[in-house]
Amino acid sequence: MAWFRKEKKPRLPRAEKLEIPPDAWEKCEACGHTDIREKFVRNLNVCPECDYHRRIRANEYINILLDEGTAEETEVDIRSTDPLGFPEYSQRLKKARANAGDGDAIVTSTGMLAGTPINLGVMDFAFMGGSMGSVVGEKISRLGQRSLERKYPLVLISASGGARMQEGVLSLMQMAKAAAMLSQLAERRIPYVTILTNPTTGGVSASYAMLGDAILAEPGAVIGFAGPRVIKQTLGQDLPEGFQTAEFLLDHGMLDAVVHRRELKQTVGTLLRHMSGKPAATGWASP
Ligand SMILES: [Zn+2]
Repeated sequence: MAWFRKEKKPRLPRAEKLEIPPDAWEKCEACGHTDIREKFVRNLNVCPECDYHRRIRANEYINILLDEGTAEETEVDIRSTDPLGFPEYSQRLKKARANAGDGDAIVTSTGMLAGTPINLGVMDFAFMGGSMGSVVGEKISRLGQRSLERKYPLVLISASGGARMQEGVLSLMQMAKAAAMLSQLAERRIPYVTILTNPTTGGVSASYAMLGDAILAEPGAVIGFAGPRVIKQTLGQDLPEGFQTAEFLLDHGMLDAVVHRRELKQTVGTLLRHMSGKPAATGWASP
């Protein structure tokens, strides 16, 4: 009779039970620290061991900065063409769209930051190295136009290797186009905050990334125009230690602050409040 016997449940072998799928682990690129992915994600993809700020996607920055459920993407239908018939450009674009999404190298949106409406543009390094072509320039320009119309502060997060070579001079023209829009914001006294992430180089660093009323950067971000090799060749001398990092630029007066990813939202919120001269709750409209 079986009723007084303890029924034996088949047991999984111990090793099998404890096993964590191999793709759940992630390794810090800077110090080699290995941890489960969730721990990195919970820490906003900053290494819990060495504080290295890993590269994240545009939508992750949007989640960090904007209040939950308030983000609304803008300028969704603009696509790059291949105006110069550059070899393999259309194939590369196709591949980038498949891998990184349709938005080209920037995602623009409007939403609330700590209860205050802002326009936010975030570059996406995953789309062709965050290169700035006509679409990036046009989206920034239109987002700025929205800021002019509604008097919303503008926040841009940069991650870019520079101008998009495949669009030649049209890419370079975006630098002036963005700068012209920003000068209108300045004239109308609408705040513009720029946040530089790793890396911010080339034409982007020579344009809107460095034109903020406040210029912030993430710790350790590489920021510069030309690469160290080119500069070394031009100057004919060795470059100082830590050259072109956010901390070096801060020491030399090129940045206003180096801000931990965890504190980005609060810092930007405080800056915008100071710049508007009003408590956040009353809005940004200037008299
Ligand atoms: Zn690390």
